[in-house]
Amino acid sequence: MKAKAVKHIAIVGVGIAGLALAILAIKKGYRVSVYEANAGLKTMGAGITLWPNAMFVMQKLSLDKAVLEKGGLPMFMQQYDNEGQLKAELDIKEVNRLCGYRSVSILRRDLMTILENKLVALGGSIRFSSAIKAQDIEAIAQGVDLVVGADGRMRSVVRQHLFNDSVAPSYQGFVNIIGTAQLETHALEEAIQDYRGDAERFGIVSVKGGRCYWAAAWSTQLDRERPLSEWYEEMHERFQAWPDAVKTILRHYEPASLNRILVHDIAPLPYWHKGNVLIIGDAAHAPLPTSGQGACQALEDAWHLVNLLNEYNAQEYSQSGNTNNLEEVLNQYYQSRIDKTTATQNIGRQLASRIFSSSVEASVKSDPSQLGTSVSANQLREFWMQGLTS
Ligand SMILES: Cc1cc2nc3c(=O)[nH]c(=O)nc-3n(C[C@H](O)[C@H](O)[C@H](O)COP(=O)(O)OP(=O)(O)OC[C@H]3O[C@@H](n4cnc5c(N)ncnc54)[C@H](O)[C@@H]3O)c2cc1C
Repeated sequence: MKAKAVKHIAIVGVGIAGLALAILAIKKGYRVSVYEANAGLKTMGAGITLWPNAMFVMQKLSLDKAVLEKGGLPMFMQQYDNEGQLKAELDIKEVNRLCGYRSVSILRRDLMTILENKLVALGGSIRFSSAIKAQDIEAIAQGVDLVVGADGRMRSVVRQHLFNDSVAPSYQGFVNIIGTAQLETHALEEAIQDYRGDAERFGIVSVKGGRCYWAAAWSTQLDRERPLSEWYEEMHERFQAWPDAVKTILRHYEPASLNRILVHDIAPLPYWHKGNVLIIGDAAHAPLPTSGQGACQALEDAWHLVNLLNEYNAQEYSQSGNTNNLEEVLNQYYQSRIDKTTATQNIGRQLASRIFSSSVEASVKSDPSQLGTSVSANQLREFWMQGLTS
């Protein structure tokens, strides 16, 4: 018996993963129904660095030019201590050259607008204010060929459906205060600056024209009740004597852009699907922001999934005698993605633990060879471009 082709996909959540999947699927002729809980696109999070693996997918989305127009081109990443001493440097140009794609820093709201505009231009639409509940998933799954949960790390209802609520995001012991700033001077142009102290970190990423996004982070207990104003005051106290670039950000950030994130991730999961229901992006493998790869991996997910579905639809599965072939494809999808996403999750945790954990000795924390920026351009190319072939 011939297996049923996948023609209609329901997508729950339009973050980066959901939007990218919707665009790629529509481009390949799938019918797509897209549900989003919010009344509009969520633009939380100040900015994103799209490393070459993400730009590979952007090219497949035909959005590389749009992203390059809005974004900045970081050329080097510099790691400093909290007195402004340069500790390590990564030549991003060299990484880009080896990978064959540029790295782009972009404000999250610009990236989301670019993705949404593309979806609409292709005739797609988003059903906003449609918060799907875990108990709705079964019914949605009966009306379509595939349900994809792209509903994020913290409250994924599709993950809840797959794991009967047994998977909870885990707090990793530090807070991020994030925001954007418009600087008069363009001194930071082309740079990603990473300042580190004892269990404290301040990162600044320039975009273009003096526009940048930044994140202040420090180790702290989980406290959801504490007023935001107190977190912001603490940030000023902690970083007021840090190097000039940090002081400049603290003077010039846009108050409306501030956000407080108590940073959680999820541990690698043993499977990502059940029947015709699948999770992708942060819902499936949320890494810590210290990995710098969450959105990049979400984009890769969308590209790999659509490729596998195309192969599945194109093949004559009747020969295998297996009537449950979508299951096979979703297994194959898991097998093709799990090692890279797990490595990303582990890298995020290892780096966070070196920076924020009190059990890591100060000598290790201040040793640049232990801090991630000592990784070579070749190693990054090998890891980031793994599995990405045209
Ligand atoms: C401070 C910070 C900095 C980061 N920097 C980078 C970086 O430089 N590079 C990088 O690659 N990654 C970065 N990341 C990670 C990146 O932001 C995430 O990995 C990425 O946004 C995940 O996208 P997603 O689409 O899977 O999930 P999300 O962006 O969380 O989207 C989920 C969507 O699902 C919707 N939704 C949720 N529940 C429901 C429901 N029940 N019904 C309908 N819709 C629902 C939500 O409203 C949301 O729109 C960073 C993260 C943080 C916190």
